[in-house]
Amino acid sequence: MLDFGSLLLATALSGACLSGTLLAIWLTARQARFVFTMAAGILLLVLHVIAFWQYGRNAAPWLGQLTLLLLVAGFFVILCSTAQYLDRNWHRVVAAPVLAVTVLITSVTAVGYDGLGFVLAYSTVTALLVVTASMFWAAGEYDRRILAAVTMLSGSAAISFALCALVLVVNGQWSLGTVPRNWAEDLNTAVVVACMTALGALTISLHHLRTQRQLTAQTLTDPLTGLLNRRALTMFHGNTRFGPRMALAMFDLDHFKGTNDLFGHAVGDTVLQRFADVVRKHARDGAEGFRLGGEEFAVVMSGIPPLDAHEILCTIGAAFGAEIVVTKLGPLRSTVSVGICFGDEHAMTLEQMLLAADAALYAAKRAGRNRVATADAVGDARFREPELLFA
Ligand code: GH3
Ligand code: MG
Ligand code: MG
Repeated sequence: MLDFGSLLLATALSGACLSGTLLAIWLTARQARFVFTMAAGILLLVLHVIAFWQYGRNAAPWLGQLTLLLLVAGFFVILCSTAQYLDRNWHRVVAAPVLAVTVLITSVTAVGYDGLGFVLAYSTVTALLVVTASMFWAAGEYDRRILAAVTMLSGSAAISFALCALVLVVNGQWSLGTVPRNWAEDLNTAVVVACMTALGALTISLHHLRTQRQLTAQTLTDPLTGLLNRRALTMFHGNTRFGPRMALAMFDLDHFKGTNDLFGHAVGDTVLQRFADVVRKHARDGAEGFRLGGEEFAVVMSGIPPLDAHEILCTIGAAFGAEIVVTKLGPLRSTVSVGICFGDEHAMTLEQMLLAADAALYAAKRAGRNRVATADAVGDARFREPELLFA
């Protein structure tokens, strides 16, 4: 059976390895700053365990102060890591109270009330763990299983620290002259060993989860315009049935090859970006813009009646026509042609909608460009004739 000292050193060793592993992960992905912060937090706790062990052998007041400071600092840094990950600034809010308690802990320990110092430090750690878990709950957008894991981890650690403080208070041990030794401390050591390992694993999985999300977002986004791409359209609407109050529009910039040839590719890119900005500006709730490729775009509208959908497209077309791109050769105006297909009770597939919208787009081009045309297979008779967009 291990004695308490060996158990503490084993804890410190496993914590140091964990901290080192996180540091190595951070070195390969520097943008994941929260991993570095977590490694620093765990390292502080490792140093706390070593100081705690030393304080058990030599009860110098400075060692007691150092032990408690490292404990509070370790959990505060872990809270900072969570705040960094969730992009919250709660750590700033708790920094001042933590600093005030730290000064208090140092003062009471200096005058021999190390027991009171331990009570204060354990209570602070309990509060920090509660704040850490609350921050995850408040963020809300996380998988429930991750929330459950974080809550269980922080919750059990918080309870074990609260018990340590409670036992000292109940026993009235305000002045110890050594480290506290009781059943709550033993329980706490076991809980902290388990939690620290789980915390490391959780940090690594959160890092992977975030990287995976970023990669997914990248593969679905067009880098030039920031709009969703064709892959995203298939992913989000591949199984959509386009019923009533749904519509799909295809846009194709007019004479865009000429724009490139005359003004250069860079100006062409700016025109594409302007068009995306116009789409973003006018696509109200329920309308999503996609860049299908080249100078072709699509807008999918859900829960929008045909007349409103038609109006949104006309607004986009007219607003784009009014855009002026300043070039070396003078101001440049461009126009766009639109083909729209309304969903109906036949609940068409994405493929059918694209085909119909493309046919309407072709009709708009033939009618002279800078126009919106409606697929004639479906839709309101009022929309049959291609309508001029930008006068
Ligand atoms: P229409 O009015 O009939 O649509 O004529 P158009 O010139 O717009 O049509 P066309 O399909 O001949 O030309 C499309 C051009 O779009 C050709 C290609 O060089 C250009 N293009 C495609 N992708 C990009 C891009 O990312 N940036 C730039 N600048 N040009 C692009
Ligand atoms: Mg084209
Ligand atoms: Mg074109």
